[in-house]
Amino acid sequence: MDKQKQQKLVYMINEFTEEDEPPSTIDLSTEEAEVSIRFNKVGARVSNERIGISQKSLDFLSKHYPSATEKDWNSWQWQVKNGITSISQLRQILDLSEQELLAIDHDKYALPLRITPYYASLLSTSNPDQALRRTMVPTIKEVSISKGESEDPLGEEHHSPVPNLVHRYPDRVLFLSTGFCSAYCRYCTRSHMVAKDKCHIGIKAWEPALQYIRDHSEIRDVLISGGDPLTMPDPHIEYLLSSLRSIPHVEMIRIGTKVPVVLPQRITKTLANMLKKYHPLYMSIHFTHPDELTPEVAEACNRLADAGIPLGSQTVLLKGVNDDLDTMKDLMHGVLKIRVRPYYLYQCDPIPGSGHFRTHVAKGLEIIKGLRGFTSGYAVPTFVIDAPGGGGKIPLLPEYFQGSDNGEIFLKNYEDKIYTYPDF
Ligand code: SF4
Repeated sequence: MDKQKQQKLVYMINEFTEEDEPPSTIDLSTEEAEVSIRFNKVGARVSNERIGISQKSLDFLSKHYPSATEKDWNSWQWQVKNGITSISQLRQILDLSEQELLAIDHDKYALPLRITPYYASLLSTSNPDQALRRTMVPTIKEVSISKGESEDPLGEEHHSPVPNLVHRYPDRVLFLSTGFCSAYCRYCTRSHMVAKDKCHIGIKAWEPALQYIRDHSEIRDVLISGGDPLTMPDPHIEYLLSSLRSIPHVEMIRIGTKVPVVLPQRITKTLANMLKKYHPLYMSIHFTHPDELTPEVAEACNRLADAGIPLGSQTVLLKGVNDDLDTMKDLMHGVLKIRVRPYYLYQCDPIPGSGHFRTHVAKGLEIIKGLRGFTSGYAVPTFVIDAPGGGGKIPLLPEYFQGSDNGEIFLKNYEDKIYTYPDF
């Protein structure tokens, strides 16, 4: 996608400022007046107003954005407007490997480049194999298409009765609110629509999807995703939430997002206070690696949890990124510490050029086997394959059930010991 089209997708962020937010019962004055707050040495926040800045980010800010202030850094709009989208910007920050340079020169990869300055501050400058860097910086491997890969592996476009909506399961729908993300993951399932002109945003564009939900009383659960819905300005998010909440049969609303991880500055107190008006509201947050668990992210998640929003994690199993037991255990333990409950571990979807990210399914089963029984049940996500062609999520479990005979079933425990249970 060329720069001009990307610019179009951020138009709303340029148009809206904090002052555009709707009248609210909370006092904005403290937040607007507040200067940036730093975390203390142990990473704890030193104020409860703004998201803090860790030392790593401060060093990055003074090195790469010498004219920007800490207040700029803490503005989510500044982070989006200053997103890294070109090779020349990336070159100033990272020592690019040959594979990365070749990819960036290539025009065939599905997703454009976009990284928030905050997330870029977490990338290794010298090691192209660092986990977070692999998830954000394209390599030439993305242009190799393997057998079984497809643009829309989950068949979402075939289950879309009206624009911006996917209705695959009987009682719930996926609402595609925007095609924009503040950072583009190289393995994105929705690479067929994110950063493209396919998904339209705004009150008019959403109306057919909202009307479809009004007309289908069996829909009790709406997942707002995209793209990333939390990249939209507060009035847009609130319009969508209030429209859905006014539909009597919509019992619950969920938001799927990576914003608290790649753009924690977006989780302002104003946003958290607005979201909590629309309970029951749940949030699934996309985490990839323990290196993402910074004080800023902890603060963002705490704000959301304090707003009463149940938080769940979603993680894609990625080769060379998080496909070993210790990394996954650290991640699951780490998210629990910031009040996020591990929810799903996904087998990587076969999007074009994802072969270098996909592990064998056996690897995911091995990781689940290494977690279950060895750590708290709360730390064990459900391992699923989202079936290609639109079959939905299919859970996968190691073989704990070993068969049955003569009124007894045989079960293998986490230590591989066999137990029987009467079953008649
Ligand atoms: S945040 Fe989600 S939708 Fe956006 S690029 Fe990453 S995986 Fe795709």
